[in-house]
Amino acid sequence: MSRKPNEPKPLLAADGAALFDADGGAMLASHCTSCGRRYFPQRTVCAHCGIVAGMQRIALARTGTVHASTVIRVRSALGHEPPYAYGYVELDGLLVFTRFSGGTPESFQPGDPVELAFENLHCDGQGELLIHVFRKVVA
Ligand SMILES: [Zn+2]
Repeated sequence: MSRKPNEPKPLLAADGAALFDADGGAMLASHCTSCGRRYFPQRTVCAHCGIVAGMQRIALARTGTVHASTVIRVRSALGHEPPYAYGYVELDGLLVFTRFSGGTPESFQPGDPVELAFENLHCDGQGELLIHVFRKVVA
Protein backbone atom coordinates (compact mmCIF):
# COMPACT_ATOMS: atom_id res chain seq x y z
CA MET A 1 0.00 0.00 0.00
CA SER A 2 1.15 3.51 -0.70
CA ARG A 3 -0.27 5.58 2.13
CA LYS A 4 0.59 9.15 3.00
CA PRO A 5 2.23 9.73 6.41
CA ASN A 6 -0.90 11.31 7.96
CA GLU A 7 -3.29 8.62 6.71
CA PRO A 8 -4.57 5.95 9.10
CA LYS A 9 -2.45 2.82 9.56
CA PRO A 10 -4.08 -0.33 8.20
CA LEU A 11 -5.18 -2.86 10.79
CA LEU A 12 -2.90 -5.94 10.65
CA ALA A 13 -3.25 -9.58 11.69
CA ALA A 14 -1.74 -10.57 15.05
CA ASP A 15 1.43 -11.78 13.29
CA GLY A 16 1.79 -8.52 11.36
CA ALA A 17 0.48 -9.85 8.04
CA ALA A 18 -1.66 -7.51 5.94
CA LEU A 19 -5.37 -8.31 6.18
CA PHE A 20 -6.28 -6.27 3.12
CA ASP A 21 -5.04 -4.10 0.28
CA ALA A 22 -7.17 -0.98 0.57
CA ASP A 23 -5.69 0.47 -2.65
CA GLY A 24 -6.65 -2.70 -4.53
CA GLY A 25 -9.91 -3.00 -2.60
CA ALA A 26 -9.48 -6.63 -1.55
CA MET A 27 -8.98 -8.91 1.44
CA LEU A 28 -5.68 -10.83 1.22
CA ALA A 29 -5.44 -14.58 1.72
CA SER A 30 -2.94 -17.36 1.06
CA HIS A 31 -3.31 -20.15 -1.48
CA CYS A 32 -1.26 -23.35 -1.17
CA THR A 33 0.06 -24.32 -4.61
CA SER A 34 0.60 -27.91 -3.40
CA CYS A 35 -2.80 -28.89 -1.98
CA GLY A 36 -5.03 -25.97 -3.02
CA ARG A 37 -6.14 -24.94 0.47
CA ARG A 38 -6.77 -21.27 1.18
CA TYR A 39 -6.25 -19.34 4.40
CA PHE A 40 -7.36 -16.05 5.86
CA PRO A 41 -5.46 -14.32 7.42
CA GLN A 42 -2.43 -15.06 5.27
CA ARG A 43 -0.08 -17.88 6.31
CA THR A 44 3.54 -18.63 5.41
CA VAL A 45 3.16 -22.40 5.97
CA CYS A 46 0.25 -24.59 4.83
CA ALA A 47 -1.48 -26.08 7.90
CA HIS A 48 -2.65 -29.06 5.79
CA CYS A 49 0.43 -30.22 3.85
CA GLY A 50 3.21 -28.27 5.59
CA ILE A 51 4.61 -26.67 2.44
CA VAL A 52 6.66 -23.54 3.11
CA ALA A 53 7.77 -22.35 -0.32
CA GLY A 54 4.47 -22.77 -2.15
CA MET A 55 2.20 -20.24 -0.48
CA GLN A 56 0.86 -17.55 -2.82
CA ARG A 57 -0.83 -14.33 -1.79
CA ILE A 58 -4.27 -13.98 -3.39
CA ALA A 59 -6.93 -11.27 -3.38
CA LEU A 60 -10.40 -12.43 -2.38
CA ALA A 61 -13.66 -11.34 -4.01
CA ARG A 62 -15.06 -8.01 -2.81
CA THR A 63 -18.53 -9.43 -2.33
CA GLY A 64 -19.72 -12.33 -0.23
CA THR A 65 -22.56 -13.43 2.01
CA VAL A 66 -23.14 -13.18 5.74
CA HIS A 67 -22.35 -16.57 7.31
CA ALA A 68 -23.15 -15.56 10.91
CA SER A 69 -23.49 -12.34 12.89
CA THR A 70 -24.00 -11.16 16.42
CA VAL A 71 -24.84 -7.82 17.98
CA ILE A 72 -22.34 -6.45 20.51
CA ARG A 73 -23.65 -4.14 23.21
CA VAL A 74 -20.42 -3.05 24.93
CA ARG A 75 -17.69 -0.64 23.70
CA SER A 76 -14.91 -2.53 21.92
CA ALA A 77 -11.19 -2.30 22.66
CA LEU A 78 -10.85 -0.77 19.17
CA GLY A 79 -13.33 1.96 20.07
CA HIS A 80 -16.54 0.84 18.38
CA GLU A 81 -19.51 2.38 20.18
CA PRO A 82 -22.36 -0.08 20.82
CA PRO A 83 -24.49 -1.48 19.42
CA TYR A 84 -22.59 -2.86 16.43
CA ALA A 85 -22.45 -6.18 14.62
CA TYR A 86 -19.56 -8.59 14.14
CA GLY A 87 -19.54 -11.90 12.38
CA TYR A 88 -18.26 -13.96 9.50
CA VAL A 89 -18.55 -13.33 5.79
CA GLU A 90 -18.09 -16.14 3.28
CA LEU A 91 -15.74 -15.02 0.47
CA ASP A 92 -14.41 -17.46 -2.11
CA GLY A 93 -15.08 -20.39 0.23
CA LEU A 94 -13.30 -18.79 3.22
CA LEU A 95 -14.80 -17.29 6.36
CA VAL A 96 -13.55 -13.76 7.11
CA PHE A 97 -14.16 -12.26 10.56
CA THR A 98 -15.41 -8.70 10.22
CA ARG A 99 -17.43 -5.85 11.58
CA PHE A 100 -20.65 -5.08 9.72
CA SER A 101 -21.48 -1.49 8.87
CA GLY A 102 -24.09 0.49 6.99
CA GLY A 103 -27.24 -1.03 8.46
CA THR A 104 -28.81 -1.65 11.82
CA PRO A 105 -26.74 -4.26 13.71
CA GLU A 106 -29.70 -6.64 13.90
CA SER A 107 -30.27 -6.49 10.14
CA PHE A 108 -27.27 -8.64 9.06
CA GLN A 109 -28.68 -12.12 8.56
CA PRO A 110 -27.12 -15.34 7.18
CA GLY A 111 -27.23 -15.37 3.39
CA ASP A 112 -27.43 -11.58 3.00
CA PRO A 113 -25.13 -10.27 0.24
CA VAL A 114 -22.43 -7.88 1.52
CA GLU A 115 -19.47 -6.04 0.03
CA LEU A 116 -16.09 -4.92 1.30
CA ALA A 117 -15.53 -1.32 2.37
CA PHE A 118 -12.93 0.49 4.43
CA GLU A 119 -13.45 2.89 7.33
CA ASN A 120 -11.23 4.99 9.56
CA LEU A 121 -11.44 4.20 13.26
CA HIS A 122 -9.91 6.08 16.17
CA CYS A 123 -8.34 3.40 18.35
CA ASP A 124 -7.40 4.34 21.91
CA GLY A 125 -3.61 4.33 22.23
CA GLN A 126 -3.01 3.61 18.54
CA GLY A 127 -4.45 6.65 16.78
CA GLU A 128 -6.31 6.33 13.51
CA LEU A 129 -6.59 2.87 11.99
CA LEU A 130 -7.94 1.86 8.60
CA ILE A 131 -10.21 -1.16 9.09
CA HIS A 132 -12.18 -3.41 6.78
CA VAL A 133 -15.96 -3.69 7.16
CA PHE A 134 -18.69 -5.33 5.15
CA ARG A 135 -21.77 -3.38 4.11
CA LYS A 136 -25.05 -4.54 2.66
CA VAL A 137 -25.15 -4.70 -1.10
CA VAL A 138 -27.62 -2.12 -2.32
CA ALA A 139 -29.63 -3.46 -5.23
ZN1 LIG B 1 -1.08 -27.25 1.33
